[in-house]
Amino acid sequence: MVSKDDAQKRVQKVKDDKVKCANCGFKNKPDSIYCQSCGNELETASQKKLRRKHIILGVLILAGVCFGFMIILGIIASESENSTNPIIYKTYDNNGITFHYPFTWTTLNFNTRQADV
Ligand SMILES: [Zn+2]
Repeated sequence: MVSKDDAQKRVQKVKDDKVKCANCGFKNKPDSIYCQSCGNELETASQKKLRRKHIILGVLILAGVCFGFMIILGIIASESENSTNPIIYKTYDNNGITFHYPFTWTTLNFNTRQADV
C-alpha cells in the first residue's frame, strides 16, 4: 500500500538526487557523468564524497606535520638550553676583556689564546 503522500515524497527524493550542472544549472539524472544540456562534466555524489575525504585527509596530514614540527622545535629548544649551560664553559677575564670558551679548550699562553680541541 503506497499512499499519495509517500509517492510524492519519493518523487521529491528522486528530484533531489538529480545532479545540477555547475555550468548551466540543468538538472541531470543522478547517474549521469556529463550534462545533458551543455555537455559539461558533472560532479557526482561519489566524487563529492571523495573530495570531502581528500580535504579531511589533507587537514589531518597538515595537523600531523604541524604537531611533528612543534615536537622537533621543542627538542631543538631543550638541546640548545643544555648547550648554553654555563657549567660547560670557562670564562676568561683579564684587562676588561671577558669571554667564554668551551671547557675542552686549554690556554697555552697568557698573551696568545689558542684552542686545543
Ligand atoms: Zn550543463
